[in-house]
Amino acid sequence: MADKQVMELRWDPILREWVLVSNIRRFRPWQPTNYCPFCPGGPETGYGWRALILENKYPMLMENPPEPSNHWFYLTAKSVGKCYVVVETPEHNIDDLSDLPTDQIEYVLRMIINKAREESGKDYAYYFLWFRNKGREIGVSLTHPHSQIYVLPFIPSRVEREIESAREYFAKNGKCLFCDVINAEVRDGVRIIYENEHWVSFMPFYSHWPFEVHIYPRRHVQLIMELTDEEVRSLALALKVSLCGLTHLFRSKSMPYILVLHQAPLKGSYPFYHLHIEIYGILREEDKMKYAAGMEVGGGNFTYDAVPEENAQRLRDSVLRNCV
Ligand code: ZN
Ligand code: ZN
Ligand code: FE
Repeated sequence: MADKQVMELRWDPILREWVLVSNIRRFRPWQPTNYCPFCPGGPETGYGWRALILENKYPMLMENPPEPSNHWFYLTAKSVGKCYVVVETPEHNIDDLSDLPTDQIEYVLRMIINKAREESGKDYAYYFLWFRNKGREIGVSLTHPHSQIYVLPFIPSRVEREIESAREYFAKNGKCLFCDVINAEVRDGVRIIYENEHWVSFMPFYSHWPFEVHIYPRRHVQLIMELTDEEVRSLALALKVSLCGLTHLFRSKSMPYILVLHQAPLKGSYPFYHLHIEIYGILREEDKMKYAAGMEVGGGNFTYDAVPEENAQRLRDSVLRNCV
């Protein structure tokens, strides 16, 4: 096959979702394994910073992407957007975001919010997805604490599904689906992991992953840019406590997880939506990983080998033991 550089969105007409296609990562230059591009003093990082947002050097989306291919049957689109890396601290040897002081987490959140505000003005920016992958099991090669931002020209599929549920629920019941989920979780109480004045962190009744945690603002709010200073400050604490409980759950192994921010799209009006953070801890036990396999990936439905109420109790114990 010719070494042609391709970067485009391909539409799956059957599942009705976009696939981000790019082979330009193949052209990535070789780097020594002991070199960290996120440590201070590198060509991209320099000195004198608390946290940094860098453009991803091998992105899936670009502000000026190549023209997509023209297919006689299938639909394609430009991979227009942005991919950023959030370097969360100058310190290389920190295991998790939750090991940073609360005011540093708050500082990182404010940088992300400023970036979202800046990107929301761009024509291509339909969605701002902040996510964090933790652990080798998730495929993280660079251990320096970092997360990522994808500014997308479309609404991601899972969020689209949430929007449709929330839209229907609102039309039928005249209230927010997410607010009702928060109420149900608070009323049940048994799956709550942490609460403060502004945020509620719980393991949902309908958890998919063994240690799944959702963090919701009590206030019905759509976008991170709309959070008050006080809400951002207490989100830093809610994140720190929730992630601390999770990463310290098992003595000999830090929990690998995926964290993602679900908020409203940047374009259009979604008053029935309610932003939240989802965290998926993927270990069932110290030595047992939950794999998304035949049933989960092939069929699309999760199997849960315990009950969330039990695991919530274990996670709460870990919070009490390690994080407060
Ligand atoms: Zn480093
Ligand atoms: Zn709500
Ligand atoms: Fe969600």
